[in-house]
Amino acid sequence: WKCPVHNAIPQWLQLVQEDRILEAAELCHSTNPLPEVCGRVCPQDRLCEGSCTLNDGFGAVTIGAVEKYITDTAFAQGWRPDLSAVVATGKRVAVVGAGPAGIACADRLARAGIQAVVYDRYEQIGGLLQFGIPSFKLDKSVIALRRQVLEGMGIEFRLGVEVGRDITVEQLLEEYDAVFLGTGAYRYTDGGLPGQEAEGVLPALPFLVQNGRIVAGNDPAQVASMGRPIAGWEDKVKLPDLAGQRVVVLGGGDTGMDCVRSAIRLGAGKVVCAYRRDEASMPGSAREVGNAREEGVRFLFNRQPLAIEADDQGRVTGVRVVETRLGEPDARGRRNAVPVDGGESVIEADVVIIAFGFSPEVPEWLAALGIEGTPNGRILTGGATADGHGRLPFQTTHARVFAGGDAVRGADLVVTAVAEGRDAAQAIATMLLPPAA
Ligand code: FAD
Ligand code: SF4
Repeated sequence: WKCPVHNAIPQWLQLVQEDRILEAAELCHSTNPLPEVCGRVCPQDRLCEGSCTLNDGFGAVTIGAVEKYITDTAFAQGWRPDLSAVVATGKRVAVVGAGPAGIACADRLARAGIQAVVYDRYEQIGGLLQFGIPSFKLDKSVIALRRQVLEGMGIEFRLGVEVGRDITVEQLLEEYDAVFLGTGAYRYTDGGLPGQEAEGVLPALPFLVQNGRIVAGNDPAQVASMGRPIAGWEDKVKLPDLAGQRVVVLGGGDTGMDCVRSAIRLGAGKVVCAYRRDEASMPGSAREVGNAREEGVRFLFNRQPLAIEADDQGRVTGVRVVETRLGEPDARGRRNAVPVDGGESVIEADVVIIAFGFSPEVPEWLAALGIEGTPNGRILTGGATADGHGRLPFQTTHARVFAGGDAVRGADLVVTAVAEGRDAAQAIATMLLPPAA
């Protein structure tokens, strides 16, 4: 049960053992609309493989790799989801966001006989699978193949359409029976470091996106619109030449690991990751930290950044940090980093990448529709209505609008977004297709 989509792992391992790959692919898809993606990018050491009973002392079964193998092999053999028995219901749902949550929702709607039309502001599907996760972790051909599969299931994509700008959510509600929001989490966490406006300091996502677009042979120009930039950083997203440069990445999450590993591939001379707590407290996957180390990244733990230092021309020269020790746990049980007196130093840098994370926000066009958010910007779903009635899971404060993924949970994982998109589709089907009396 540590797998968030509750995959039938022992059962498909058995099918692979017996070389029954197509049955295994069918079983994988019964719980997970994106098995080939999760097999590649899940932090398995924290999830399925971390719970494998062989993990203690022997090393876990490589569950993620097997899941990827099953799906890749079945696709190569021509297998596709079989929807021939699905009866069209005549219902139609607009899905906003072609990331993992939106894709999973559309997949399950199609299987329930509900027409799904997926809108995304970008010209390709995948959300952060396409424009965030680097291609050395997830080759973009995987997403292109999945798009073919989804279109083969009758799912329609309307790309390059931003809801709230090119089309209103009111129009969607007029045209469709329900709307699912899988709009992700794109508000940067602003550390507010003094001097962060210096040349050579840039936020993580535009850095990764531009690099990804260049690697994929796409025009990197559109990147400025990727996420809501911190005030003053709007023009600071141009990818610098990292060849031979000293790069410091601030932040110890998976995004930080993607930045350090991308910087290595861009020819940086020295790459340092500074994190304010100890190694055991890092939010990123231990496997990714190991990969980064193997590729030559240096980690400085217990270093809290205080300010960016710059020269007379306003170019970054380093990061002033203070050494920390772990103090008392905070409200969430995480131990705070407490600065140590006299522990200040400067890490020299030509480029600083800030990877402090992202959070969602409820856009004005949703708020205007009466859709409520939590104080930290997540779309509110489930719970009870004002008159005491229960809402369906993933149902927002508007009865015909559902939401899931990072927009509801805050920045998390592909597999949790998949689980929520899948389960939200179930809730939408429950609302649209009540059982016959
Ligand atoms: P997203 O993937 O963000 O998709 C949201 C989509 O909605 C986007 O395509 C966006 O364009 C679209 N959208 C938003 N607003 C509108 C609008 N108004 N109109 C039309 N379209 C709109 N997770 C892992 O499990 N493993 C990893 O290795 C991993 N690496 C990561 C690396 C980076 C750099 C980042 C940033 C995240 C990483 N994650 C990883 C997290 C994971 O990518 C996300 O949790 C997941 O993609 C969330 O899925 P989602 O569908 O909720 O949102
Ligand atoms: Fe493991 Fe992720 Fe696959 Fe679940 S979806 S079995 S957590 S790799």
